[in-house]
Amino acid sequence: MSKIHGWAAMAAGQPLQAYSYDPGPLGPEEVEIAVEHCGICHSDLSVINNEWGFSQYPFVPGHEVTGRVVTLGEQAKGLSIGQRVGVGWTAASCMHCRSCLAGDQHLCSSSTATIIGHNGGFAEKVRAHWAWAIPLPEELDAAIIGPLLCGGVTVFSPLLNFGVKPTDRIGIVGIGGLGHMAIKFAAAWGCEVTAFTSHADKTAEALHFGAHHVVASRDSEAIRQLAGSLDLLLVAVNVPLDWSALIATLAPKGRMHVVGAVLEPIPVAAFDLIGGERSISGSPTGSPATIAAMLDFAARHGISPQVERFPMREVNDALAHLAAGKARYRIVLDADFG
Ligand code: NAP
Ligand code: ZN
Repeated sequence: MSKIHGWAAMAAGQPLQAYSYDPGPLGPEEVEIAVEHCGICHSDLSVINNEWGFSQYPFVPGHEVTGRVVTLGEQAKGLSIGQRVGVGWTAASCMHCRSCLAGDQHLCSSSTATIIGHNGGFAEKVRAHWAWAIPLPEELDAAIIGPLLCGGVTVFSPLLNFGVKPTDRIGIVGIGGLGHMAIKFAAAWGCEVTAFTSHADKTAEALHFGAHHVVASRDSEAIRQLAGSLDLLLVAVNVPLDWSALIATLAPKGRMHVVGAVLEPIPVAAFDLIGGERSISGSPTGSPATIAAMLDFAARHGISPQVERFPMREVNDALAHLAAGKARYRIVLDADFG
């Protein structure tokens, strides 16, 4: 079995190093994918730095992969050699638990995350269960749409799962990788979109992505002026903000939905929820069917992430660029193993 070459985190906080590993025999339900491009999600950075406490070193980060199927396990279904596919946060799920059987494979308690105890897409090749290697629509540019596979579906699935209506007013907090895709999806969904950003210099681009209004995410007064107005507030930051002011923006029956991995607890007063039947919730990525639906929607509406591209050998520069808050708006690495 030939080795797979990639870039690995060897310990928390260290730069990635050139690394090769023996992937062992391909499982009967697995497929092997030659990586062509891979987005960098903030979660890659958080797992590299063990911010969530469950990183397993060494590991190859990267979970916004696009590439081509090069090997099919003997029981892999629905895919063919050479087919263009994408892999996101999840590389496998058990397929027999209640969540999997209900179509919520992303909620499987024994799923395998692409970069936890598994090697991801900053490499020549990556492996996934056939169901998690999602065929990419021809209309989308595979070179730049890797970020839809994790960040994209994470912000799309709340629109689908909560029955968001085109008449709804949506706020999106944090206009980074996830947030800028959320603006595009919510605008195409027909909603009135308010972007909350800490970078005033993102205003023009946020409007260009489809936002109708832009508000400073660190200006409590400005946020309070929106009190009672938003049906859905999607939080895509990983830092604490003025939660009391943000929760107050919710209309009756409004929902604050958290997808950003904010590590500090979010304080909430019971009466802020009880009074207007408001709620607070969270969700991870989405099922293969939701990812496929999101890709179809993106193809139909011409939605793709706005990306900056780096050759994969410059992965450490790319990670530093993201860590410094300078990515506009998602970084995609181009595989360059030759
Ligand atoms: P990102 O590109 O780094 O964007 C995060 C944004 O948060 C920044 O662009 C910035 O927006 C805002 N922010 C950062 N520091 C801030 C500060 N000090 N004050 C105010 N705003 C600040 O990250 P991402 O890849 O979009 O990921 C966002 C979060 O979602 C991460 O925690 C990631 O791990 C998580 N995530 C969750 C899931 C899931 O399944 N739920 C999936 C993917 C990612 P502005 O510049 O507009 O202020
Ligand atoms: Zn991610």
